[in-house]
Amino acid sequence: MNVEVQPKAYEKRAAEFIASRQQMLIGGAWVDAASGETFEVENPATGQVIAHVPSGDGADIDAAVKAARRALSGPWSKLTPAQRAAMIWRMSDALEASAEEFALIETLDNGKPFTAALNGDLRTCVENMRYNAGWATKLNGEQINPSSPTALLAYTMREPVGVVGLIVPWNFPLTMAVNKLSPALAAGCTVVLKPAEQTPLSALRLGRLVEACGFPEGVVNVVTGFGHTAGQALTDHPDVDKISFTGSTEVGRKILRAAGGNFKRVMLELGGKSPVIIFPDADLDKAIEGASRGIFANTGQTCAANSRLYAHRSVFDRMLEGISERASKLRVGDGTDAATEIGPVVSRTQMQRVLGYVESGRSEGASVAVGGQRRGDQGYFVEPTVLVQTSRSMRVVQEEIFGPVLCAMSFEMDDLDRIATEANDTVYGLSSAVWTRDITTAHLMARKIKAGMVRINGGGVDHALPFGGYKQSGWGREYGREGIEAYTELKTVAVAM
Ligand code: ADP
Repeated sequence: MNVEVQPKAYEKRAAEFIASRQQMLIGGAWVDAASGETFEVENPATGQVIAHVPSGDGADIDAAVKAARRALSGPWSKLTPAQRAAMIWRMSDALEASAEEFALIETLDNGKPFTAALNGDLRTCVENMRYNAGWATKLNGEQINPSSPTALLAYTMREPVGVVGLIVPWNFPLTMAVNKLSPALAAGCTVVLKPAEQTPLSALRLGRLVEACGFPEGVVNVVTGFGHTAGQALTDHPDVDKISFTGSTEVGRKILRAAGGNFKRVMLELGGKSPVIIFPDADLDKAIEGASRGIFANTGQTCAANSRLYAHRSVFDRMLEGISERASKLRVGDGTDAATEIGPVVSRTQMQRVLGYVESGRSEGASVAVGGQRRGDQGYFVEPTVLVQTSRSMRVVQEEIFGPVLCAMSFEMDDLDRIATEANDTVYGLSSAVWTRDITTAHLMARKIKAGMVRINGGGVDHALPFGGYKQSGWGREYGREGIEAYTELKTVAVAM
């Protein structure tokens, strides 16, 4: 008997959304690009086009910025912080109620496994909204005593920075959008969100959700388009007060230059080449698990990916064996398949880039311990890969690959300064991981590593913990108090007494 499996309700909703006419949200209206142009959106697991999305450019960005500027002094500005908090919380409830639909959209657009999208990305988004909703009512200044014998009453206060451009990448399309959107709204800003051209669908779906939650028109605008058109127009725009950007260091540099026009505030969360350092006394089973997850999760497309392994010589072989075994067993496949652990990389371009790096490693003298190949000839699957015999001069050790490729290296010395020097030998400084059972080693390494985050024995990211880069990994911090204060201007009031 042939039993037809009925699609689940969320599968139908996701399919209907993706098949529907995609328009941008500008000033409370759903619109096409002014030019009428669209671009194609692919499912990276199949290479098939699944949607056409408006190709917004300067004209659309200008309309969105004007709408956001109007909204900044409209009904939105009259809401109390508690009312803003309640609206953001309502949005989190609505997102939670549609989590499966959003997760499936993310899987079809980005490629990540559905379970990872649902239990990782969507859960993070809901929590991030709730965390930041709480901040709306807690953005205070302070009373300051003057330093000289002047009779002054002085205090600071925090005001929304204004119209903010949110430019997000394709690796965590919804999460990155929400990580910026929720503190911006909690602080009272209005926004123009530009998702990555590879993965615009969840941001457009989020636009519908925002609308359904009753945010006043123009508070949240979503413009889809390419980086060099829509993205560039947003960073160039003289009436945008701040850009919050997550993406490559190369584009970060362009944004910095463009922001100089009107001295926009800039938050940049950029690339990384984060080390994972294994000391001989580490719990090696946990370190193997953590180091594997640190590079292969999200198919290595994570800015904080631990892409350089440094293991003490006495434990190197065991680490290499353990990670290689995990790499070879990870089930690579279509994210809609429940058995899949690792999805495709996001695009053909990205696949070629990752495989190009593996080739470059080989030609510079590295060997492939495991992986290193494309998997299949449909979709953009790359095998989890471990490179050995890599050294500091190689491109694979210095440059961000943004794929499931680990460079495994050992160290001989016991001197922590020398180990830290090696770990710090990169232009980046986003994250790092240290595995040891010795608390002194752990805390000394935490001081010596030049990175915005040191994760000890698997400690992770949380909405309350500031996250951002040293060196060329960026400017500013997201999450925590620093993350929301970055969406405010500080004003000082001084009263002669
Ligand atoms: P990746 O290299 O990971 O694709 P990018 O840094 O190129 O990431 O892209 C991240 C985001 O930045 C995307 O939304 C992209 O459209 C946008 N972007 C790319 N180029 C520019 C630019 N010149 N100005 C503003 N935004 C840009």
